[in-house]
Amino acid sequence: MPDGEPANPAHALFESFLRAGQCQEVLSCFEELCQQLGLQGSGLQLYHGLKAGLNYWNAKALWSKLDKKAGHKDYDQGTACANTKCLVVGAGPCGLRVAIELALLGARVVLVEKRDVFSRNNVLHLWPFTIHDLRALGAKKFYGRFCTGTLDHISIRQLQLILLKVALLLGVEVHINVQFKDLLPPASRGDGQGGWRAVLQPSSSPLSHYEFDVLISAGGGKFVPEGFKRKETRGKVAIGITTNFVNRHSRAEVEVSEISGVARIYNQKFFQNLYNKTGIDLENIVYYKDDTHYFVMTAKKQSLLKKGVILQDKPDIESLLADENVNRDALLSYAKEAANFSTNYRLPELEFALNHRALPDVDMFDFTCMTRSENAALVREHNGARLLLGLVGDCLVEPFWPLGTGVARGFLAAFDAAWMVRRWAAGTPPLEVLAERESIYQHLSQTSPDNTNKNVSQYSIDPATRYPNINLHAIKANQVRDLYLVGTVEVDHKKRRDKRLSTAVSGDAYEELLRWCQASTAGYRGVEVTDFTSSWTSGLALCALVHRFRPDLVDFHAVDPQDPVGIHQLMLDTAEQELGIQPVLSSTEMASMAEPDRLGLITYLSQFYEAFKPSPA
Ligand code: FAD
Repeated sequence: MPDGEPANPAHALFESFLRAGQCQEVLSCFEELCQQLGLQGSGLQLYHGLKAGLNYWNAKALWSKLDKKAGHKDYDQGTACANTKCLVVGAGPCGLRVAIELALLGARVVLVEKRDVFSRNNVLHLWPFTIHDLRALGAKKFYGRFCTGTLDHISIRQLQLILLKVALLLGVEVHINVQFKDLLPPASRGDGQGGWRAVLQPSSSPLSHYEFDVLISAGGGKFVPEGFKRKETRGKVAIGITTNFVNRHSRAEVEVSEISGVARIYNQKFFQNLYNKTGIDLENIVYYKDDTHYFVMTAKKQSLLKKGVILQDKPDIESLLADENVNRDALLSYAKEAANFSTNYRLPELEFALNHRALPDVDMFDFTCMTRSENAALVREHNGARLLLGLVGDCLVEPFWPLGTGVARGFLAAFDAAWMVRRWAAGTPPLEVLAERESIYQHLSQTSPDNTNKNVSQYSIDPATRYPNINLHAIKANQVRDLYLVGTVEVDHKKRRDKRLSTAVSGDAYEELLRWCQASTAGYRGVEVTDFTSSWTSGLALCALVHRFRPDLVDFHAVDPQDPVGIHQLMLDTAEQELGIQPVLSSTEMASMAEPDRLGLITYLSQFYEAFKPSPA
């Protein structure tokens, strides 16, 4: 045994667990460790067993962090959700993060993940609160390089590894290679028996018998359970490219500066030079140094066609980016050239890192359509058994990758979901739980490090610690009745949306919004707001509105009044990327405003009102 390694076999196993760098390795080390210590079971009891069995310095340093976390009053000493049984779908960062909170609340937590590898080299940007949060969970113990110095990002796979380890230590039961397929309602509950179960793949999984009263779905961008409806917002064609290069951590590599978001609107000269010298035309580019050299960029279609990356122009984005229409070698060259140019050719010998298929880690994908769920939670009741369902992470709101907001907003939603479960377990009436959850969800897309509470050390699952001036009663219980489903009925999303919009345009709220828009755009050339239709078609009113509050984001006098679609597109993109305001209509729809779209425009402008309205004195 090398010097410095602990002699006790359990200690050595614990050290291997801390260092394990693959998902399956983490799980097998943990199983061995529990066997060695003679520990069985799950939940916080398992955590206490581990603590008792591992009381040497390195383990103790971690326990003291986790104990501090677990001692927070929100968890009621791990009893707040003691009788709650949860199923979490997905071991992405957000599924694991919510599982940890539920475990700290004392719930039984089973997590299913359909894959058995964590393979994503791509890097996520961390807001200050996420860094603080992960440190408090002992991130440095598992990954020594975690956010050293001014680093504020981490690869997706490292983040998953850290969170998986914490989840296991806190007694979350993690099952890989198990896919959630559907819900199985209780057959009969006359005798007080029978709860909700899951249809899983493989069907032979013993978990098929697990009965739970809370389901949290964190299945990522492509998966939501039945009952939730995702809304698409379609912008102009946006093509993203991600690529990773091997990081040898040489001195030359260390010296190259990162690029934490060069957007075209800020640095036109850089992009013009790039285009003139290489023919590569980008909207933005980000470069982070982590386990790999990671680049994410949004490329213009014409330049991809010109450089032979896309073989033929096609009317729809799916066929445009279909494998058979992409020249992979040209894509690799495009990505490498962009990386080289943007780092001034100072990264020596760029060599592609490999993805999980052992191929150069370069991906091209479509950003044209971003989706978000219309609601964050719902309740189902069948044969007397209630089930609370919530979404977190990308399946709730898909992030804009170049901003890397996925994990920050994902963690916020994970905390919000845990708070919802806490309220549910405390016996709060279901409609109240749902109304509060939807009130909080309204804010998610607008959150940024600037408008969330600065005192990140105070953050907890209690929304009041994170969102200043949050109104937890913005949505009333009677507005979420249709999210409480009895029997086999489904949510009538159309009725729900119409109802929400009609509330948005009724009476005082309508007048207040109109008055505010008029006052905010007064004095701008060519702008006169009198309604929520034709006053906005030129795009100038929206441009004026943003310019009034954030003159740094747009130059009102530089936009071309002859190009309303172009102005709208610029404003939609800027508002989304800089203010987190989700588009409701496309630029073409906004430029040809017809009567029915008035509701969409009001919904869209309401988000600006929320973002910019004066805060109460
Ligand atoms: P994910 O990380 O997507 O995790 C979802 C998990 O659920 C997956 O492990 C999946 O296997 C599992 N799952 C799905 N369905 C089921 C089911 N039915 N049963 C069981 N398990 C299931 N963001 C950026 O900002 N920059 C990037 O460069 C970037 N690159 C990405 C590359 C890829 C390939 C993907 C998929 C996402 C990327 N993202 C990126 C998004 C980013 O990873 C997420 O915002 C972040 O990981 C938080 O997501 P999440 O936990 O909600 O979902």
